Amino acid sequence: MIAARKTFEARCREATCRSCGRQELRGVLDLGRMPLSDGLLTADDPLPAEAYYPLEAAFCPNCTLVQILKTVPPEILFGDDYPYYSSFSPALLAHSRDNALALIASRKLNECSFVVEVASNDGYMLRNFVERGIPSLGIDPAPGPVAAARKIGVETLQEFFGIDLARRLRREGKSADVIIANNVFAHVADTNGFCAALAILLKSDGVAVIEVPYVRDLVDKCEFDTIYHEHLCYFSATSVDRLVRRHGVYLNRIERLSIHGGSLRLHLELKDGPDQSVRELLAEEKQAGVDRFEYYRNFARRVRAIRRELKSMLEDLKGRGCSIAAYGAAAKGTILLNYVGAGTRVIDFVVDRNVHKQGKYMPGVHVPIFEPDRILRDMPDYVLLLPWNFKDEILQQCDSYRRRGGRFIIPIPHPEVV
Ligand SMILES: [Zn+2]
Repeated sequence: MIAARKTFEARCREATCRSCGRQELRGVLDLGRMPLSDGLLTADDPLPAEAYYPLEAAFCPNCTLVQILKTVPPEILFGDDYPYYSSFSPALLAHSRDNALALIASRKLNECSFVVEVASNDGYMLRNFVERGIPSLGIDPAPGPVAAARKIGVETLQEFFGIDLARRLRREGKSADVIIANNVFAHVADTNGFCAALAILLKSDGVAVIEVPYVRDLVDKCEFDTIYHEHLCYFSATSVDRLVRRHGVYLNRIERLSIHGGSLRLHLELKDGPDQSVRELLAEEKQAGVDRFEYYRNFARRVRAIRRELKSMLEDLKGRGCSIAAYGAAAKGTILLNYVGAGTRVIDFVVDRNVHKQGKYMPGVHVPIFEPDRILRDMPDYVLLLPWNFKDEILQQCDSYRRRGGRFIIPIPHPEVV
């Protein structure tokens, strides 16, 4: 045990920070080797070939960025069968629409404007602009979602966003009034290149509006299952501010959102003019100690406590003859089930609304995935809620299951039955 911990710390010391390039990172959490969280399996996949990669989070004392050490190549992570289609979540659709309408009003967007979205997925966000006649361009590397976006009339390039693409668009005479990038900044391997690309593509008075999960929510609410191979960085206002400044991009406004367990909406511009929201949050983070390693020191211990508690709760229920299913074949579900060691012996099946996931198997633990109706049909005694960030929405959807006596287990921040 001591030897393994030493190795993790040694790996952190030798790693290079994704933002500032310094070494001597400090270890925050070692989740061990994990399968790819979205690498759902089909019945034909040869199981011994399933790939596992180390999943280790570290803190940079120089620029304060929390990050994972290992970068899995994006071609492997976001390949042809990437199963995530944003339009399957009603809550996400409503959130995006509100954000789009607010941007159209505040930036006075019209038919002469140009909106770019990075990681535009199936066009769920840009359609709000297209419907109002505002020229828009989506950028996304995953062929399935890109085809879906084009089908609803959202022009989309099937590519990764970076300096080369930003330069090419610029050469074509295109520059953006608004760049939207929701839940992608943390996924990009070339963190600095992404910031430089924003600086190239933005108009001088343009704004980049970027949503990222907030590292303080991750730590304070113990949301360890939001750490997975796609998420390379875990941002705070402090770490973003230090990162983007080096590229002539400035964090001028910031909003805290409840989506995805707690996120930040960053407003980045090419002129340096932070408003009160930025000044206040930077001060608050300093007060809370987000910029120092001590803040992260207890996180791993708290995560291990959740694992112990949840594991014994599930095993206890199983021992009493209860049946247990799970809801939501989301990435965080893969991490939670694998970390807790809840495989087919404990969980009978997982359900998910996304038809692209149904009929497949959860990575690592190989629990089969079915359609949500299966819950009412089989009436398992308990359902473990994996995407706890959509808790209210899912509990509402499963109202008839609960009225018939079914119960949910919410794993985070403390395992509890509702
Ligand atoms: Zn750093």
